[in-house]
Amino acid sequence: MERIEVICVGSELLHDMVNTDINFISKLMAGAGYSILRNVIVPDDKDEIKSALTECIKRSDIIIITGGLGPTFDDLTREIVADFFKRKLVFSKNIWKKIEQRFRKRGIVPSLVNKKQAYVIEKSHILKNEVGTAPGMILEEKNKIIILLPGPPVELVPIVKKEVLPYIKKKFGQKKDIQYFRFGFAGVCESGVEERSSEIISSYEKKGKIEFTILAHPAFIEILVKIFPPDEEKKIQEIEKKLKEKFRDDFIGLNPPTLPEILGNVLKKRKLKLALAESCTGGLAGKLITDISGSSEFFQGSFVTYGNVLKKRVLKVPKTVLKKDGAVSKKSAIAMAKGAKKVGKSDVSIAFTGVAGPAGGTEEKPVGLVWIAIGLPKNRYCAERYVFSGNRSRVRERAALTGIDFLRRKLIEKQ
Ligand code: ATP
Repeated sequence: MERIEVICVGSELLHDMVNTDINFISKLMAGAGYSILRNVIVPDDKDEIKSALTECIKRSDIIIITGGLGPTFDDLTREIVADFFKRKLVFSKNIWKKIEQRFRKRGIVPSLVNKKQAYVIEKSHILKNEVGTAPGMILEEKNKIIILLPGPPVELVPIVKKEVLPYIKKKFGQKKDIQYFRFGFAGVCESGVEERSSEIISSYEKKGKIEFTILAHPAFIEILVKIFPPDEEKKIQEIEKKLKEKFRDDFIGLNPPTLPEILGNVLKKRKLKLALAESCTGGLAGKLITDISGSSEFFQGSFVTYGNVLKKRVLKVPKTVLKKDGAVSKKSAIAMAKGAKKVGKSDVSIAFTGVAGPAGGTEEKPVGLVWIAIGLPKNRYCAERYVFSGNRSRVRERAALTGIDFLRRKLIEKQ
């Protein structure tokens, strides 16, 4: 199997920009059966780019370099790669003509710095860039392949799809597809999933054939399964059956949809309407539900009652409860769930009230404490106390998803 490495050039990628190019490249390559072995991010710095290239060339067969093909002083990739392989940069009249045409269409005269982009590395295969000005390039050097791509995803994506992948497939053939499967779990922590699944996983784990990774997300956990030869696929159904037996309601499925979608499906199936009462989540749970297209079929809406005035006025949380137990309490959460059901004319409800932090925590009610109450048909109510870790946004996200999962559990429990 060919070894592929990706070097992403760009100081912004080491600062605040998310490296989406690597996600796209590795996903597309995996579809053709190729895996990326390593990815390194380097700043727009001559020595760093050169040193990354020196390392990668020693151990890999295909090196993909993204970024640094632009016209400005910090775009260095073209020059460094040419110098590294002792090749000249040659001016392409054809590319320059295309750059001029592109600029003219927008009523702009290209400046002299743009001329830099019309220089290509000699004896390289040029990759047409139909969206931007910098062309990509492929160099074959002894038994190594070096692929230069522009950094902006709008330019990189079509070049990789239309030119790079077909080139690699033509050269090395379509490999047997690698397949990925995800098993989802909710209401259990990462170590809990590991502990309870370890026996099942170890009985299937075979180096080079099937690999397992555990990934933690806010309020749900995934076991990612990577399968090399497709004939192992039948094992997936077996594993699914075993995990389901072991985890019961904590298991949310093979390649599951999101927790709000799972809840939405349960509500649709049972023809139940949902209303929310949100304090510390500030509308986030409603946002997560309405991210689902068609959610109006089961979702009445969310009452964002952040302060006590609206808790009292809209949801009719008793003044005495707010005074005696406080807004963050079991009684308040249940009163909010009752109010949401009544005012929202729904069959079920979820209410959230807590201390998202970073300020406002006390010994009795620490930051991260959230009471979540559930309203069910036939006037049944229940509430749970949670203490979530993390910063304000993480506490809110965990609370919203945990509440959504809490209702899912209560509804399937009843069946
Ligand atoms: P340009 O002609 O636009 O300068 P370039 O090939 O020189 O193209 P860079 O200058 O390295 O590319 O990056 C330009 C912009 O493309 C970055 O500011 C960033 O917005 C985006 N970009 C670059 N690399 C990546 C990446 N790996 N993932 C996501 N976005 C990226």
